[in-house]
Amino acid sequence: MSEELKNLANILKLNNLRDNLDDYLLKAEESNKSYKEFLTDIFEKELEEREEKKYKIRLKKSGLPYMKDFSDFDFRFQKSISKKKINILCEMNWIDRLFKLVFLGPPGIGKTRIMVSLGYEAIKKGYSVYFVTMSDLMDILKYQKESYSYKILYRRILNSQVLLLDEVGYLPISREEANLFFQLISKLDEKVAMIITSNKAFSEWNELLGDAALATAVLDRISFRCEIFNLSGKSYRLENREELFEEKV
Ligand code: ADP
Ligand code: MG
Repeated sequence: MSEELKNLANILKLNNLRDNLDDYLLKAEESNKSYKEFLTDIFEKELEEREEKKYKIRLKKSGLPYMKDFSDFDFRFQKSISKKKINILCEMNWIDRLFKLVFLGPPGIGKTRIMVSLGYEAIKKGYSVYFVTMSDLMDILKYQKESYSYKILYRRILNSQVLLLDEVGYLPISREEANLFFQLISKLDEKVAMIITSNKAFSEWNELLGDAALATAVLDRISFRCEIFNLSGKSYRLENREELFEEKV
């Protein structure tokens, strides 16, 4: 009887029920639960397990370099953005409204960290997120036509709900790369929310992309529904530098 039920659960892809059937049956006999409660329990557990599995897949596919939320983010150190604003951003309204968040400023002040933590919170809330640095993005765009593994990453970008693009402006890009970048931005326009970090102000993007007309076209699309955060302050890395030797040796 039990084997037959497990088989049926398997066919119906009720994996949690299939794997825990004996346990559920035993507990049902021991407790005084109604049929309705019993079934509700089973369906709820099944759903929970499926959501958990989907969450783990989203997390794995996101390419996030680390998983950190804002619980240990020091808002006293980074005063250019308030905890209140971060809390509002964590509600993820901006994703549904296809906004672009742009974090600008010098190295070490928490741009990537804020982006990664927002991405992590978005994944928890059920959004599909993809993190990529500008230099890795250039490789994906250049090689996706000839390499299957790059094509998979390219598709992930197109299918994501939020693209996290890190370190725009750190490395110079060629004319061909600037063109590919523009094509991607056009393709994602009005479809995908984005977070972009850069050490270069928008006024310097002309030089970065090597072509004034192209930069205008890219910025036109990025700045349509866009919130810019100009972060300033000292480098968290330099201020919290760990030393290997505690005293001079
Ligand atoms: P950026 O991208 O601006 O160069 P990062 O986001 O990589 O800087 O930050 C550098 C390091 O400092 C990271 O390990 C990050 O987690 C940490 N960090 C930066 N700002 C804060 C902050 N306000 N509170 C806690 N950690 C921070
Ligand atoms: Mg960074």
